[in-house]
Amino acid sequence: MAILEVKGLEKQFGSLEVLKGIDFSLEKGESMALIGASGSGKTTLLRCLNFLERPTGGQIIVNDNVILDVSSQKTLNENEIRKNRLHFGLVFQSFNLFPQYTTLQNVTLAKELLEKDTEDYKKNKKQVLDRIREEGKEILDKVGLSQKLDDYPHQLSGGQQQRVAIARALMLHPDILCFDEPTSALDPELTGEVLKVIRGLAESHTTMVIVTHEMKFAKDVSDQVLFMDQGVIVERGTPEQVFEHPTEERTKQFLQRYFEEK
Ligand code: ADP
Ligand code: MG
Repeated sequence: MAILEVKGLEKQFGSLEVLKGIDFSLEKGESMALIGASGSGKTTLLRCLNFLERPTGGQIIVNDNVILDVSSQKTLNENEIRKNRLHFGLVFQSFNLFPQYTTLQNVTLAKELLEKDTEDYKKNKKQVLDRIREEGKEILDKVGLSQKLDDYPHQLSGGQQQRVAIARALMLHPDILCFDEPTSALDPELTGEVLKVIRGLAESHTTMVIVTHEMKFAKDVSDQVLFMDQGVIVERGTPEQVFEHPTEERTKQFLQRYFEEK
C-alpha cells in the first residue's frame, strides 16, 4: 500500500510556476531519490509536503487519508497543519539546531512540547520526561552520538550536527522522512558519516524522500529515482533505469553534465 501519494501538485509564486503537476507515490519502507538541477523545484516540493508552503493545486494523501486537497477550498487551521506536518520529518541542508541547547535537548525538545498537553504528562511528568530522554539517547546512539549527549552545537562538527538533526527528525517517528541535500553544507570529508547514517536508515526500511546531488549515493540507497526539471518529473524508474539507461534527452544531459564536473 502506498504510504504517500502526491497527485497533480502545483505551486506558483506569483506568475512563476515552480511545480507544474507533480505525481508520484511511495510505498512504506521505500526510499525515493529526487534529483535535478538547481532551481528545478525540489526544495519547493519538500516544503509543500511539510506544509511550509501552500500548494496552489493538487492533493497530498498519506495512508489513504487526503491531508491536503487544494480544490476543496478548505482552509486548514493551525492545529490541522501541525498534525499534518507530523507525517513528515525534514532534514535541511543547514542543521538549524538550537545553539543554547545540548545535543540531547535538541533531540527531545519537540517531543516534550507535544506531550505537554497529554493527561499522562500532567499526572506523571517526571516519568514521561525520563521516557523521552531515554528514547532520545537510544536514537542518538543509533546515529553514533552517544558520547556527545551534553555537548552544545558549537562543540560539534558539521557532520555531527547533521546527525543530531537526523536524530531530532527520527524522534517524532514521521511516516516519511525527507532530506533536502543533507550533505551540501558539509566539508567533503564529513559527508561520508552522514550518508552512512542515511544508508543505515534505508537498510532498516525507513520511508524516505531524499533530494541529493550525490548521484552514486542516490543510486545505491534508493528504490526509485525521480528526475525533475523545471517543475516537471521528466523521468522516473529504478536507479538502474534512470542512471544507466535514461530515455529522456534532458536526463541524459543532466547526468552527463554531472559526471563531467566530477
Ligand atoms: P531547487 O531546490 O530544485 O534548487 P527550488 O524549489 O528552491 O529549486 O526553487 C525553484 C524555483 O522557485 C526557483 O526559480 C526559485 O527562485 C523559485 N522560488 C522558490 N521559493 C520561492 C519563493 N518563496 N518566492 C518566489 N520564488 C521562489
Ligand atoms: Mg533546493
